[in-house]
Amino acid sequence: MATVYKTTIGLEAHVQLATITKLFCGCKTQFGQAPNSQVCPVCLGLPGTLPVLNERAFDLAIKTALALNCNIEKLIKFERKNYFYPDLPKAYQISQYSLPLSSNGFLEIETENGVHKIGITRAHLEEDAGKLIHKQDCSLVDYNRGGTPLLEIVSEPQLHSPQEAYNYLVALKTLLEYLEVSDCNMEEGSLRCDANISVSRSDSAKLGVKVELKNMNSFKGVRSALSFEEGRITELLKKGKTITQETRLWNVEQNKTLLMRAKEESHDYRYFPEPDLVPFAVEKERVKRMKDSLPELPAQRKKRLMTDYKLSEYDSSVLTSNKKMADYLEECLKFYKNPKVLANWIMGNISSELNKRKIDISALGLKPAGLASLLKMIDQGEISGKIAKDVLAQAIETGFPPEKIVKSKGLAQIKDTDTLEKIIKEVISKNEKSVSDYKSGKSNAAMFLVGQVMKQTKGKANPQLVNKLLKRYLA
Ligand SMILES: [Zn+2]
Repeated sequence: MATVYKTTIGLEAHVQLATITKLFCGCKTQFGQAPNSQVCPVCLGLPGTLPVLNERAFDLAIKTALALNCNIEKLIKFERKNYFYPDLPKAYQISQYSLPLSSNGFLEIETENGVHKIGITRAHLEEDAGKLIHKQDCSLVDYNRGGTPLLEIVSEPQLHSPQEAYNYLVALKTLLEYLEVSDCNMEEGSLRCDANISVSRSDSAKLGVKVELKNMNSFKGVRSALSFEEGRITELLKKGKTITQETRLWNVEQNKTLLMRAKEESHDYRYFPEPDLVPFAVEKERVKRMKDSLPELPAQRKKRLMTDYKLSEYDSSVLTSNKKMADYLEECLKFYKNPKVLANWIMGNISSELNKRKIDISALGLKPAGLASLLKMIDQGEISGKIAKDVLAQAIETGFPPEKIVKSKGLAQIKDTDTLEKIIKEVISKNEKSVSDYKSGKSNAAMFLVGQVMKQTKGKANPQLVNKLLKRYLA
């Protein structure tokens, strides 16, 4: 019998917290500024400077940890992680090691077998490094990012496929967006992720040797890198080769991972307590204040959409996966009372318009009241569903209210019997063959004639009414 293998994955996410200033100094954290324009003696690590903890970053870290169901440690301790690299002017990073801010939480994710709780080992605060820019003949360094507050969120190795890892990241990003603790902008590096993966025989109780993966710039990149690595390790195991613990880089152009270095152990970093920041107790009131500030979270909102609006689990899950989309839905419901119709329009026509334009729903030209009025026009038979789709596109393009577009372009359905009868007479006189076909029993001929009337009216005639009038005429 062929050996069956199991995959085990753990993820380490780095989230840039949405603060105006850096973690230990007053420099701005704004992205895209001139290189080395947001630096000072503290974040450049000049001798004699002292770090001071940014209270806002501390609060946001606690808030996130609470939303991840973590325990908050009573004592806060920072440590120096020493390594020598040009993007790190102090030659150490202020991080947390022996006593992280928080630990033992979980995040719920969707899997093939329903919702699973994935353990969160720890979430701790640390400062970001600068950025190296490699040119053909030299390397440049920009320290603007150095000292930006990061929350490192480490999962337990409880994910069992690249797709589950992807789902975990989507759930984490959604949670962070609900909390408004980070802009989660992946292009700007506000949310980054490293992964570790091991493959072992499914009958073995022990995990396989762990391989670390870095350099993935998107969630899809994480999934692709893990799939590649899952295949590479499994092949080696099948050939009876030993797996070595190492760090590999994802190369998106070559669609494969490449060896970066043999694994560094944590003792290589010579962690020791940061002498410039003495350990301090976390005030209970602060934790309570952060707990009270937690908004409704995605899982709760999903349940509420199901109970309050009777939406399906699938619809509720899709809609809450994007906070702004769920906000839009609930805003629309103030003006239009059919949740299922709204959900279909938002997930269908509106989402495809957003994709076409590559914009977010918050940038949509059509406000909730406008969508509501469009849907009411369909319900009242003023426009057809097909025309409503065109009106939607025009409303988004121009920002004009749908009623105005319908009126100014004369798109309202023709329900006036006199006007329709006139057109029907004309169509009948021009299509004698179809008329005689119909009379000799070919019912298809009637459909052709209705089609001609619709064509004449540019789709604005009410098809049911045309059908009725036409049959009366032909009889
Ligand atoms: Zn600074």
